[in-house]
Amino acid sequence: GSKSTIGLIPADGIGREVIPAARDVLEAVAPNKFNFVHLDAGFEHFQKTGVALPDETVERLKGECAGALFGAVSSPSHKVAGYSSPIVALRKKMDLYANVRPVASPVGATGTPIDMLIIRENTECLYIKSERLETLPDGTKIAWADRKITETASKRIGRMAFRMALQRGAIREARRARGETVAWEGKPRVTVVHKSNVLSVSDGLFRESVLSVRNGEDKAFKDDVDLEEQLVDSMVYRMFREPHKFDVAVAPNLYGDIISDGAAALVGSLGVVASANVGDSFVLGEPVHGSAPDIAGRGIANPVAAIRSAALLLEHMGLDAEATRIHSAVDKVLSEQAAILTPDLGGKGTTRGVTDAVIKAL
Ligand code: NAD
Ligand code: MN
Repeated sequence: GSKSTIGLIPADGIGREVIPAARDVLEAVAPNKFNFVHLDAGFEHFQKTGVALPDETVERLKGECAGALFGAVSSPSHKVAGYSSPIVALRKKMDLYANVRPVASPVGATGTPIDMLIIRENTECLYIKSERLETLPDGTKIAWADRKITETASKRIGRMAFRMALQRGAIREARRARGETVAWEGKPRVTVVHKSNVLSVSDGLFRESVLSVRNGEDKAFKDDVDLEEQLVDSMVYRMFREPHKFDVAVAPNLYGDIISDGAAALVGSLGVVASANVGDSFVLGEPVHGSAPDIAGRGIANPVAAIRSAALLLEHMGLDAEATRIHSAVDKVLSEQAAILTPDLGGKGTTRGVTDAVIKAL
């Protein structure tokens, strides 16, 4: 078939080490299937050129690429005139409205297999950053922040949750049919996370919108997917006690941010957690970790998060078989080859060593 073009944006720090590793795995899982184009962005690029996200990068992503992989940016803690995060800008410019984060481990922190997918709304909620400071007559200050929840964005994130739940269900069935052990029993499940017992208007609209998606449109959403509601505070509690009881969780932006970082703690190092920024016509895979300046340039960054992000990219491009092969190879290396793992997982290995082991296990 014809080749698909994948944009690679390593950006800063260990992004330059883990993105080439992910590219090698993509090339190995589907030789000659992809064209790779290298695109600039990041703080180091900003320091050289005054631009953090060149127009050319966005134009080529939109014009040439079927999807892309992003490494990590170094965002300085102090304010730098003219600089703003290129990843935040990219999500906006490409309308990547869902942040999809699988949290999986054959043996998680609770001793049970964990395989959950957190879908975070990526465009609204408190993150519209509409804040004001007011000074009261007595001289004390009061801060206000607007929270925006739209029916449109809530429905489209809900739709994605049901679609992905069905897809995961189909993948589990296929694995069962091949004789593999699959921990999850029964139908796929979507857990809607909200706090509409208190915020009955805003969280209420989020909740109703997701429920309405289930009851309309696609009959399979209702017939083939179980639905569960969970208030966000008890969601955190349950997730830490019994993470194996969750399949797909969908949440507004802020709750999704918090529960997904929390969930990453259940599966070990930041160096293994992947994400995808998903829109209707584009996917940007992105490891959850940052540029890790403390280890950058030493060849010991864990490439697993980036490699899994590449697999997510393939899933969203419809290349499920290739994605599954990557995930299985990674699981195999993580569970059977402790000696070659990188230092964040207690090993003495290197980025290259782990990458080669994954390629061998494909
Ligand atoms: P970080 O994720 O870069 O690092 C946190 C810790 O985890 C460090 O000790 C690091 O060595 C370790 N770590 C992270 N990824 C690893 C990997 N693949 N292998 C082995 N160890 C790994 O977070 P930080 O230190 O808080 O931030 C560093 C820089 O990254 C900052 O400038 C921050 O703004 C940026 N950042 C960017 C993103 C992003 O690009 N989306 C996300 C978070 C932080
Ligand atoms: Mn976060």
